[in-house]
Amino acid sequence: MENRLKPMDAEQLREYGHKMVDFIADYYKTIENFPVLSQVEPGYLRNLLPDSAPNQPDSFQHVLDDIQAKILPGVTHWQSPNYFAYYPSNSSVAGFVGEMLSAGLNIVGFSWITSPAATELEMIVLDWLAKMLKLPEDFLSAGQGGGVIQGTASEAVLVVLLAARDKVLRRVGKDALEKLVVYASDQMHSSLQKACQIAGIHPENCRLLKATSSTNYALSPEFLSETISQDLTIGLIPFFLCATVGTTSSTAVDPLLSLGKIAKSNGMWFHVDAAYAGSACVCPEFRHYMDGVEEADSFNMNAHKWFLTNFDCSALWVKDRSALVQALSTNPEYLKNKITETMDGITTVWLGKPAMLYKKSYQVGQTF
Ligand code: PLP
Repeated sequence: MENRLKPMDAEQLREYGHKMVDFIADYYKTIENFPVLSQVEPGYLRNLLPDSAPNQPDSFQHVLDDIQAKILPGVTHWQSPNYFAYYPSNSSVAGFVGEMLSAGLNIVGFSWITSPAATELEMIVLDWLAKMLKLPEDFLSAGQGGGVIQGTASEAVLVVLLAARDKVLRRVGKDALEKLVVYASDQMHSSLQKACQIAGIHPENCRLLKATSSTNYALSPEFLSETISQDLTIGLIPFFLCATVGTTSSTAVDPLLSLGKIAKSNGMWFHVDAAYAGSACVCPEFRHYMDGVEEADSFNMNAHKWFLTNFDCSALWVKDRSALVQALSTNPEYLKNKITETMDGITTVWLGKPAMLYKKSYQVGQTF
């Protein structure tokens, strides 16, 4: 009995790891036999599992049998070739195997010193991805900008909204929160509205401007300019514009160049959400959909949507990382270390991405 309660050792990892890989490989071989949409009724699982956790360990094979019999019927098969709901969330064998390594090493990367390779690899790979997307150089980590992995696009828009909010409040005074106004088209993903709720933006000041078939459901720069002018006249403070490349419901592409110029002339933060369509823009023939991104302060795309990467992995780039760092960093005693002290403030916090910036410590995805 005592023996059975010991944690598994490296040899058992080898044995069970192989079995698990076989189980997953068999699942993929037969994935098309499952109904794509789970057919179970709500509450189905409670009837199949005991009321409390078992007191005795179970055999690995029995666990796999349970998964086959009780869990797989309750799975909606996102990776099935017959799955066409919501949006693609395509992973790949390379993605699974990478996740295996990540789970096996189980690194906690909340500061540079807690695992230098984690932070540095993230920065390097996001620079590579920025170059593949032909993002302007300002978004690369060599200058004042850089990329940082977030859990989801919802998290990305919240993070930049907070950075923009704090930046404008530093200028106009923190009592002006209720005057701040956010703009996007009504085709924008609901995550912006949620971000506004979290960031304390007055609900009436989240302007989702109607986009019609006359612009192929893209946000009209003229309509935006008019709305901004009206808001300025009544003493409001326009501070954040979000454009989309590939809207969720209609695949609309907002005219980034003209919108960006309007944002700039009004001192607003300009965010571009390319959550799913951004992946396609690594192809030269689709890159033009992102033209005008040079006007943006931040840009986001989801590797977990169309880039063969496991959920969740959302890539966010900013031109001025100090805005994020100022809005989101904390610097408690227990995070300080000698390396940190030898670097300049912004680089240090960015390299560390402590607490608020680090994805696993700051999950605000669609599960909200
Ligand atoms: N933006 C767009 C254009 C989307 O299509 C989606 C999701 O479908 C999101 C944002 C939200 O993405 P996430 O699920 O990563 O928060």
